Amino acid sequence: MGVFDHVEFDNHESLHFCHDEKTGLKAIVAVHSTALGPGAGGTRRWIYNNDEDALTDVLRLSRGMTYKNAVAGLKFGGGKAVILGSDGAPKSPDLFRAFGRFVESLSGRYVTAEDVGCSVDDMRFVREETKYVSGLPQSGNDAGGDPSPWTALGCFQGILAAAEARLGADSLKGLRVAVQGVGHVGLHLCKLLHEAGAELFISDVNKEHLKMTLDTVPATVVPPPELLFADVDVLAPCALGNILTSTTIPKLKAKIIAGGANNQLSTPADGLRLAERDILYAPDYVINAGGIINVAAEYYGNSSEDDVRADVGRIKDRLRSIFEQARETGRPTNELADELARSLVAAAR
Ligand code: NAD
Repeated sequence: MGVFDHVEFDNHESLHFCHDEKTGLKAIVAVHSTALGPGAGGTRRWIYNNDEDALTDVLRLSRGMTYKNAVAGLKFGGGKAVILGSDGAPKSPDLFRAFGRFVESLSGRYVTAEDVGCSVDDMRFVREETKYVSGLPQSGNDAGGDPSPWTALGCFQGILAAAEARLGADSLKGLRVAVQGVGHVGLHLCKLLHEAGAELFISDVNKEHLKMTLDTVPATVVPPPELLFADVDVLAPCALGNILTSTTIPKLKAKIIAGGANNQLSTPADGLRLAERDILYAPDYVINAGGIINVAAEYYGNSSEDDVRADVGRIKDRLRSIFEQARETGRPTNELADELARSLVAAAR
């Protein structure tokens, strides 16, 4: 397995591999950049086909966090962790404690929180071993707790900005929105979209998540392989990444792609493919920054829920500015966002 010559390596500052024999924990932490602060990003627990897939995922996610944190104006660099799920290492308090000791051993180069496959509860066990963790149960009116509702709120704001820019719509009333994945982020987003009068189409591979969503909002269930190509105004990817490819893009019917999933584009060239089809793409790490904004507020302290709400509201303005530049220059939105992120990091070095 090549590391330094890995196609996603992109000048990562450090990579850390961890194994705990007692709990079976296998994890990788990638720290892409600490130019703007400690490498911060959640921990994903996932069953990967092989170690190579886990490495690719953590490298892509970690670079994405550098860009996300920079554009959101946070005092965080970029990092990410993956815990390799397997039957040999079931989720347990001890597994997360072992992971916490590993995070502590990095002496603050990396700050963790929850991501796919991990919860606020899991982070409590990480906290027993390290202070370099956020996304913990909220106390009072202070920022904290599950970041997903904040991610969903930012996505909702971003969908509003995209509908305005691409469709000239000043509300989501009557718009058809497809939400791929109704987990933590997707379910919260569905609630906000429903309240705003959108018509919902949803898919998930997890039947319980579908049921929970249908118990909350009216929606049409679409089989997972078909959801991407549904005849809708907006596609909101809220499952996993790597879904917008040279194969899928020609078949999309949505006019807007705006959702919470990380790494939606398979390659940067897919941003150009979307632009050429006049599909407005809200760069994933710009629109889905709500959760890390809340995580940063909790980590650094002295912020209330109202402060976080105001900061998440700025996602709409950032996207408006990117959409406007794209309209003026004809350049893909992902290129413009990457350029902005890289310039912010370079200025901090
Ligand atoms: P989650 O695990 O709670 O939800 C993901 C959902 O997607 C699950 O219900 C899962 O069953 C479903 N899913 C998986 N494959 C699917 C497929 N092929 N088709 C349809 N559904 C599928 O995770 P989450 O916390 O809601 O995060 C969702 C995405 O948003 C991830 O990409 C994550 O990295 C990203 N994200 C999350 C946050 C956050 O605050 N939770 C912040 C930023 C980005």
